[in-house]
Amino acid sequence: MFDKSISAYDEACKVIPGGVDSPVRAFKSVGGTPPFIQRGEGAYLFDVDGNKYVDFVQSWGPLIFGHCDKDIEEAVIQTAKNGLSFGAPTELETQLATEIVEMYDYIDKVRFVSSGTEATMSAIRLARGVTGKNDIIKFEGCYHGHSDSLLVQAGSGMATFGAPSSPGVPADLTKHTLLSEYNNIENLKKCFENSSDIACIIIEPIAGNMGLVPASDEFLKVCRELCDEHGALLIFDEVMTGFRASLKGASGILKTQGDIITFGKVIGAGMPVGAFAASKEIMGHLSPEGTVYQAGTLSGNPVAMAAGLTSLRKLKSNPEIYETLNAKAVKLVSGLKEVAIKNNIGLQVDTRGSMFGFFFADKVPTNFKEVSEFCDFQRFGKFHHEMIKKGFYFACSQYEAGFMCTEISDEDIEACISAADEIMKNL
Ligand code: PMP
Repeated sequence: MFDKSISAYDEACKVIPGGVDSPVRAFKSVGGTPPFIQRGEGAYLFDVDGNKYVDFVQSWGPLIFGHCDKDIEEAVIQTAKNGLSFGAPTELETQLATEIVEMYDYIDKVRFVSSGTEATMSAIRLARGVTGKNDIIKFEGCYHGHSDSLLVQAGSGMATFGAPSSPGVPADLTKHTLLSEYNNIENLKKCFENSSDIACIIIEPIAGNMGLVPASDEFLKVCRELCDEHGALLIFDEVMTGFRASLKGASGILKTQGDIITFGKVIGAGMPVGAFAASKEIMGHLSPEGTVYQAGTLSGNPVAMAAGLTSLRKLKSNPEIYETLNAKAVKLVSGLKEVAIKNNIGLQVDTRGSMFGFFFADKVPTNFKEVSEFCDFQRFGKFHHEMIKKGFYFACSQYEAGFMCTEISDEDIEACISAADEIMKNL
């Protein structure tokens, strides 16, 4: 059933390292060969062997209306007819920035980039430029893209300066990154005791890169207080949650506000886009208004702007979508939980808006260490593999979240739960 994907993968491996352009796609943590995708349509993916899958990944979040949404497709085609890129300002950038700014009380200006990695990298530079400080705090298990200073593992211990987590990253570049434990207030306080030079905390306020693990209200409140006390800025990385967790992203659900917000894929509806945003005072430090340099030839690309604009306007004119999507997500994970209980399998589930997560674990993990310790990765690998065979495409790692789209029907969800029931009998 995967013959063509297997040979496509072999061919890819000859010319692309590991056969993929982003490591998680290689299915290394679950085993097997990744299906090579030919096309998407609404809720579904179709691979080169002709297999059809209900897609619970939706390009890792951006496709809230599913694949090939007619309005977004039309906007992309019409805009592309006027030219793909100008490297000059267009009104589309102002329009998309306006749509974003309108949703958040505490941001006035947006700068577009082309990926989430660029957004967080630039936000950190801005925070350092504004505060005149050098160190940053990052939490274990939060992913903010692959820029050098963010590829960090614990050095001599948590709450101290980190060591590079990848060859190619000089230790000199990570020596300004303090790594702390998510949802651990004491640990975070220690970071501020260990350095008086902290420019910012960067956090996924609802983490989606260690599975779905939300920060507690109390933890976020302390993040805010410590930043205020020490003259640091709080960066909310909403690359995944922006316009996903709610119309106002994670910030719409939580009680704490950040200073800088980063956005990504979701605001491009599947086109390569990222952005960072803050008050006009903070953004005023950015070149050409201020002195903090940041740039991009394809930034604010018109076709990407048109896709994002269409998607955001659809969301804003149908805000009830979030409730519908959450109801679908709840239906899915509570169904999975029910069949897990029936089959004597520990499963922890959660949702935030259109995002969902499940862990094969007996206890709810609240940080990366607990995800690693509590969760049965072998069981997840087997489950994933069998679900793919039955036509259900989940994120290929227990460290990832899942995403609902408007096109996934109740019937798709019910079929998924019965397939899971079958599989869990022998898991
Ligand atoms: N921040 C978060 C929270 C993310 O989830 C991701 C990617 N999944 C990134 C940053 C990096 O975005 P990109 O892959 O577009 O560079």
